[in-house]
Amino acid sequence: MINNIDVVIAGAGLSGLTAARALADDGKKVLVIEKNTQVGGHCYDYLNDKGILVQKYGPHIFHTKKKSVWNFMSRFTDWYYYHHEVKGLMDGQMVPIPFNLNSITSLFPRILAEKLESKLLEKYPLGSRVPILELKKSEDEDLQFLAQFVYEKIFLNYTAKQWGGKKPEELDSAVSARVPVLVSKDNGYFQDPYQGIPMKGYTKLMERMADHQNIHLLLNTRAEEVVEIKDGKIFIGGKTFSGKYIFTGPVDQLFGECYGELPYRSVDMKMETFAQEGYNQETGVVNYPNNYDFTRITEFKHFQRDSTMGYTTLCREFPQEYVKGKNAPFYIVNNKDSQELYEKYKALEDGVKNLYCLGRLGEYKYYNMDEAVASGLKLVEHF
Ligand code: UDP
Repeated sequence: MINNIDVVIAGAGLSGLTAARALADDGKKVLVIEKNTQVGGHCYDYLNDKGILVQKYGPHIFHTKKKSVWNFMSRFTDWYYYHHEVKGLMDGQMVPIPFNLNSITSLFPRILAEKLESKLLEKYPLGSRVPILELKKSEDEDLQFLAQFVYEKIFLNYTAKQWGGKKPEELDSAVSARVPVLVSKDNGYFQDPYQGIPMKGYTKLMERMADHQNIHLLLNTRAEEVVEIKDGKIFIGGKTFSGKYIFTGPVDQLFGECYGELPYRSVDMKMETFAQEGYNQETGVVNYPNNYDFTRITEFKHFQRDSTMGYTTLCREFPQEYVKGKNAPFYIVNNKDSQELYEKYKALEDGVKNLYCLGRLGEYKYYNMDEAVASGLKLVEHF
């Protein structure tokens, strides 16, 4: 069979299957090798016995500015048109996150709130997304006060929990900029025009992606049992493979961590299902920047826009150090040191003809789902 294969892909997560499907649509024969017994990667979800769509690896809300990406995904699913809102507990109140003009109103006495709002609007156009590390550089003393408040109440402790004691400044500025200060009354977590949850879940969506006569899916198999990289060449079953190899696992592990391990973070997801009329919390996700050891609680039935199940499932996220073989790498740790180390592995990748590392772990990028899809589609276009 391997003689007829044009492309081998390691990993049946969103990146791998996007590439597989785009290639298959293009007439290429693709072998996808997946270590788990199911597709889905970190987007894996399932319907529990209460009718709640549970996302095993935490909240995954699909959102994008790119119509082409939305259209691609929409070939494989219908959507719940869910618009994500997050509240955070601070100073005893549940306030909108990203911190916005409504958060100011709910936290500060009226006169101070009005002053802060007008100072923000003097400096930034309505609708601006201002990274906290940028707001902290403000010269105006009221904006400085606001920036310090938001930094301490939202970012400092959450970031320490999430990233193992790190401060926002010790990570690439893009990390905290994902959740900016929003100069508007928009309570949405994302401002993208396309947003939703796949109606039957991501696993079913990806099963449909993989359902193509040109895609052969090999589950329950480790890629290294099938594919070997030696002397800058790719071998399958001991023979040189002249097709392309797309690898979506951790790029450092592909090369035996020869330059040392790239840093990742893991999360322990604690799930709980119990009888509950209506919703247990007011938004799909509630962040706890300063309280408890978990970062946030997700209540999945918000995503289905249906509170009538009589039960609810909550997920608490406890960030963990990543230990190979013990837990899974959920996040790459985006900072200068890790980027420099990654560049060394990238050079190794570039030294192997027809090898392409893809996705969050393969490209060592803090991708959202839509960026993972866009990257998979771009790679296939490049082919
Ligand atoms: N963040 C924070 N407080 C919050 C939300 C986010 O400090 O209430 C910071 C934190 O460093 C986090 C980053 O912003 O890791 C990105 O947050 P996002 O919600 O995008 O994380 P993800 O959903 O990818 O886990």
